Amino acid sequence: MRYRGGLLYKTVWPSAFTRRLESRCYSSGGKYDLVVIGGGSGGLACAKEAADLGKKVAVLDYVDPSTQGTQWGLGGTCVNVGCIPKKLMHQSCIVGHHLRGSQAYGWNSVKADNTSHDWSVLVENVGNYIKSLNFGHRAALIDKNVDYIKAKGRLLNSHTVMTVKGKQRETLHADNIVIATGKRPRMLHEVEGMSEHAITSDDLFWMTKKPGKTLVVGGSYVALECAGILTGLGYDTSVMLRSIPLRGFDQQMARLVLEHMSINGTTVIEQATPQHVSRKADGRLCVSWQDAEDVYDTILVAVGRESRLVDTGVEELGVQLDNRSGCILGGFEGEAERTSVNNIYAIGDVLHGQPELTPVAVKAGKLLARRLFSASSLQMDYNLVPTTVFTPMEYSCVGLTEEDALAHHGTEAIEVHHAYYKPLEYALPEMSHQQCYIKVISMRKAPRLVLGIHHTGPNSGEIMQGFAVALRMGLTLSTLQSTIGIHPTTAEELVKLQITKRSGIDPHVTGC
Ligand code: FAD
Ligand code: NDP
Repeated sequence: MRYRGGLLYKTVWPSAFTRRLESRCYSSGGKYDLVVIGGGSGGLACAKEAADLGKKVAVLDYVDPSTQGTQWGLGGTCVNVGCIPKKLMHQSCIVGHHLRGSQAYGWNSVKADNTSHDWSVLVENVGNYIKSLNFGHRAALIDKNVDYIKAKGRLLNSHTVMTVKGKQRETLHADNIVIATGKRPRMLHEVEGMSEHAITSDDLFWMTKKPGKTLVVGGSYVALECAGILTGLGYDTSVMLRSIPLRGFDQQMARLVLEHMSINGTTVIEQATPQHVSRKADGRLCVSWQDAEDVYDTILVAVGRESRLVDTGVEELGVQLDNRSGCILGGFEGEAERTSVNNIYAIGDVLHGQPELTPVAVKAGKLLARRLFSASSLQMDYNLVPTTVFTPMEYSCVGLTEEDALAHHGTEAIEVHHAYYKPLEYALPEMSHQQCYIKVISMRKAPRLVLGIHHTGPNSGEIMQGFAVALRMGLTLSTLQSTIGIHPTTAEELVKLQITKRSGIDPHVTGC
């Protein structure tokens, strides 16, 4: 396979200017108030906040190439191989969807059966946008006098970090060290032929060759989002789940997401795991599983992510890790990000047991810097974190799942209000809205505190952000129901909820 993310990256900025930035960024050594290992969402936020508080800061960022050789610039997972390229590609699918339906709105220019998509244009434009973000991050560090060191960080002791770049070594003294090294996709090495032939999300967004017929292995966020994108861009896509979709999410909602994907063209293979992969003479990949096999152009493995702390010196130093996840244990001395070793902290995906989301890493990093370098004592609150799964039918939620609410409070104590609704956006042209659904879980007893909100539908992420604020403020069912809607929106369906699951009344809402 030919993935040329690295090559593309090198060509975009005038090389003389890049070299000037590099030399500026490499100018430092010596003593720091803070050394951050990992220049992703959390690390950059923490470093910049500390610099704003007048501290001397260095950030080390280094990207090991993916199994297929893809590499990228400063900014971590979110910017390069996560949220940003994913959302842009999701948006490309939405644009295609609108294009195909545009005649119903009177547009003559695009015939429904005459739209075609050019993968290479999308990848090039997404890639260029990412490179502008890489550049912006570097410029911001320079602006704040943060030393950016493009090297791997290794802890020698609790105050010394060694920078490793090829054969070059440098040691930095740090009063405080923050580990923000994130995670990388796990490969199914145990399946013969897989690591040789398959890609992961670290490759997908940088692939210059179009993916073609694709098998996505996995059933959670990354797998379903990628499968949704590939289907939306017109590729014959299958997703293979070994168990349930979206583990940890409300399962009624997860099923709606999967059902919508299936109706919209993704082949869903359930209760299956790949067993063998081989390349055929024509270059295509033959995959076998339990009692079947098929041939694909691309296999995308999305079976979770792993921290890669080997070679970072953390274990040797006595930083405690969780046995199962391999992530850093926090929570020492009552501080979520404090590790078992004094003055060493962990934030973001590498911290065990917290939501692996960009805004979480960013907020935790900023708050930690403020606690370390100002009078602040404000701790990060990891509860009530809202999230969106950017599948073709977006799913957003905040708070408890119905399963968790039942387990914590029991059937008699909770009430579930729900509704199937039809977004006006799906009226012209008529589009499938069977999976547009809202569920609000609350306590039954006054003051009927809302415990969880779940929503599938267009723009779900935009809708949930505001409701997440309300939930944090102690939203009650009566406040929700007494709020006046904005008409005609899909968000208003949330404040119009009247039907309880307990009542057994048909929850399909119609009209105003
Ligand atoms: P990262 O952003 O991963 O940054 C860690 C950095 O440290 C990397 O650059 C890494 O190369 C570097 N590094 C590692 N080891 C070393 C070392 N020893 N020395 C120097 N540098 C090192 N979250 C959302 O909120 N919304 C989304 O829509 C979303 N979509 C996603 C889609 C995908 C496909 C994926 C994979 C993730 C997505 N996420 C999303 C999750 C989000 O990207 C992560 O939660 C976030 O990037 C974590 O930030 P971090 O700072 O902990 O780590
Ligand atoms: P997850 O750990 O959430 O899910 C892993 C998936 O892979 C599960 O479906 C799991 O199945 C399956 N799996 C694990 N091992 C195997 C195996 N050996 N064979 C087949 N299937 C297997 O990982 P993701 O990579 O999807 O997501 C990681 C994190 O990234 C998320 O928790 C999220 O925080 C973040 N993210 C956020 C996004 C967003 O905000 N929109 C988007 C993407 C990622 P099983 O359930 O059976 O264990």
